[in-house]
Amino acid sequence: MISVEEAIQIVKDNATSISGSELISLEIAVGRTLSEGPKSPLNLPSFRQSAMDGYALNLSDSHRYEVVDEVKAGDEVDINLEPGQAARIFTGAKVPDSANSIVIQENVIREENQIKLQGKPKPGDFIRNIGEQIEKGSIPLDKGHTLNPSSLGLLKSLGIQEVEVVKNLRAAVIVTGNELVESGQELKEGQIYESNSAVIEAALKSKGIYEVNQITIRDNLDDTISQLRTALDENDLVLISGGISVGEYDFVGKALKTLEVEELFYRVLQKPGKPLFFGKRNETFVFALPGNPASTLTCFYIYVNLLIDLCKAENHPGLLRIKLPINQDYGNKFGRALFLKARVNNESVEILDHQASSTMISFAKANALVYIPAQTKEIHKGDPVETIFLPYGS
Ligand code: AMP
Ligand code: MG
Repeated sequence: MISVEEAIQIVKDNATSISGSELISLEIAVGRTLSEGPKSPLNLPSFRQSAMDGYALNLSDSHRYEVVDEVKAGDEVDINLEPGQAARIFTGAKVPDSANSIVIQENVIREENQIKLQGKPKPGDFIRNIGEQIEKGSIPLDKGHTLNPSSLGLLKSLGIQEVEVVKNLRAAVIVTGNELVESGQELKEGQIYESNSAVIEAALKSKGIYEVNQITIRDNLDDTISQLRTALDENDLVLISGGISVGEYDFVGKALKTLEVEELFYRVLQKPGKPLFFGKRNETFVFALPGNPASTLTCFYIYVNLLIDLCKAENHPGLLRIKLPINQDYGNKFGRALFLKARVNNESVEILDHQASSTMISFAKANALVYIPAQTKEIHKGDPVETIFLPYGS
């Protein structure tokens, strides 16, 4: 059995960057990774903008200005202010070329068509200059940047509609188990609703992988082999849930051997997720994720997520890890590394109740996983612990 650190290293050593990119619409680009930083077609802002509601001034030595016009956001501007003249102006409006400062309305006393200034405005106050945010021709987001909602906003504000992104991995999710029933159907004795495929598919979506081939297999060696063979032939990433343990009806290991999937590692000294398998066949990566729901998702976040980032040549692969003080004592009597569902609150981290690998209740409420190394037997309140921030965690 290998350690978590060794397993992570094996993932890093084997990840290969995806060759090929595609031009896609921004509408479907969240979670995708840029293969080329788009060049800004314009300056942002493209004209001098008022940053506040107030008055645009052509500065003079006097405290009194004559208000001669008004400019709203969106207006075309054709005003020539003489020194000592002002125009009423609103946030986002074009600043007249003849104005060199904005005074905010809170610092002004209005008397009919005159204003009296409280302070002394300086040239450039509250004016957003042309290209101040982004210069025309510059590359605001680099290759390897994964598009989040704010990236879409930024690119939209530049008038960009399409981006060149790294091709997606073709992914298949295979769930195994005689006991599994799709929701919507009636449960018979001994059956449970199948839930891991929804978890894995949602996690893949957050990585920009929207199209997933979903396959369900009963606990039967022949079916497992034939379905797995097709999935391996047709995908770049195959994620299998369940059937990788050592029970009589766990056929995934045998099927992987029969299909000559190269084993990169099998079994990691961790809880949850000990029987995790990682392998490769031709160019296709395979993870067999232990079927208990919290094991499946933990293994996804720690290993699959990292592999996807590395394959996409993402600039910051893997989840953010920060040491934070733990707010309680915690014992590790398992001799394995632990990934504990946790919540970061202000500056400390709290281990949640219900850590069993069969339950998702703590995972659903978690915003982080706390990592406790295998050799650590006890931690005390206030000790710094490695805290892995989860996506959606807030
Ligand atoms: P296994 O890894 O196949 O031994 O499964 C371990 C546990 O996870 C068993 O209790 C299974 O019923 C459960 N399990 C396996 N696959 C799924 C699934 N797709 N959805 C929900 N529970 C599952
Ligand atoms: Mg099973």
